[in-house]
Amino acid sequence: MNARLIDGKAAALGLRQCIGGEVNRFREAVGRAPGLATVLVGNDPASAVYVSSKKRATAEAGMLSFAHELPATTTQDELVDLVDALNADPAVDGILVQLPLPAQIDELVIIARISPDKDVDGFSPVNAGRLAIGLHGFVPCTPLGCLYLLKQELGDLAGLNAVVIGRSNIVGKPMALLLLGESCTVTIAHSRTRDLPEVVRRADIVVAAVGRPAMVKGEWLKPGATVIDVGINRIPAEDGKSRLVGDVDFASASDLAGAITPVPGGVGPMTIACLIRNTFVSAARREGFSYEKSL
Ligand code: NDP
Repeated sequence: MNARLIDGKAAALGLRQCIGGEVNRFREAVGRAPGLATVLVGNDPASAVYVSSKKRATAEAGMLSFAHELPATTTQDELVDLVDALNADPAVDGILVQLPLPAQIDELVIIARISPDKDVDGFSPVNAGRLAIGLHGFVPCTPLGCLYLLKQELGDLAGLNAVVIGRSNIVGKPMALLLLGESCTVTIAHSRTRDLPEVVRRADIVVAAVGRPAMVKGEWLKPGATVIDVGINRIPAEDGKSRLVGDVDFASASDLAGAITPVPGGVGPMTIACLIRNTFVSAARREGFSYEKSL
């Protein structure tokens, strides 16, 4: 392995500690703690794990979490009513509705119902539009975490060629817009892209957000490229259990890349740290509290 390992765990810890300090200052100045409401509908085990780690991280940062757990039979109207109540609750700075939702509920209706100023996941059409035209809003946590890691690794990104593989609304598209905002020359690749290896070979920065285990091979890379692997794929392991791998073939890519994120321990921890960051920033904006600008 020649590449430097980009340690997402350490970066996330640093960010969370910085936010913890800011939360202390906020509590002293404002007289309350920032609050995140989490909404979990149904019994999906993976969703339950995600929500509980988000609640834990919220508490560790000195913030309040308000947990709402609803049965899988919840109707769309009932969930809309809960979102409306959370929008109106002054103690709630951020609202996180864990996806996916049961089939009877239209996710877009719920996401669009969340007040854009409490939409700390950054999924609402208003925040997607703000990002597209360069206004302050909330940026989805995973691409925001990727940007932190890239800036930490590379500093100024202006002029670099970036290839984002994947065009989902929660990762690929906002990632591409963030990189454009940093003055990268951005290419978005997807399942219909022709000759993906050739496209990737031009990139100084590769962000892989596909959901296909080890799809991006080392030999596709420009030597020295910085590789951010967003993918989280569970595959069978030799011992009969399972293990997590990314969308990048780590063994071959880490020979050619200049720097690379591992899976696990790369982008994943940054996603939660950025949720905490967005919740704090929401509280600070709502209270007119000035905070550390590097956040
Ligand atoms: P989606 O399934 O919504 O999007 C996948 C994208 O990959 C699509 O745009 C699709 O193209 C593209 N794609 C699929 N196959 C190919 C291919 N053969 N070549 C090129 N592009 C392809 O996934 P998400 O964006 O939600 O997530 C992507 C990955 O990131 C997943 O592994 C997910 O688990 C992980 N993830 C990790 C997070 C973290 O915290 N680390 C958070 C969120 C996601 P098309 O649009 O043409 O279909």
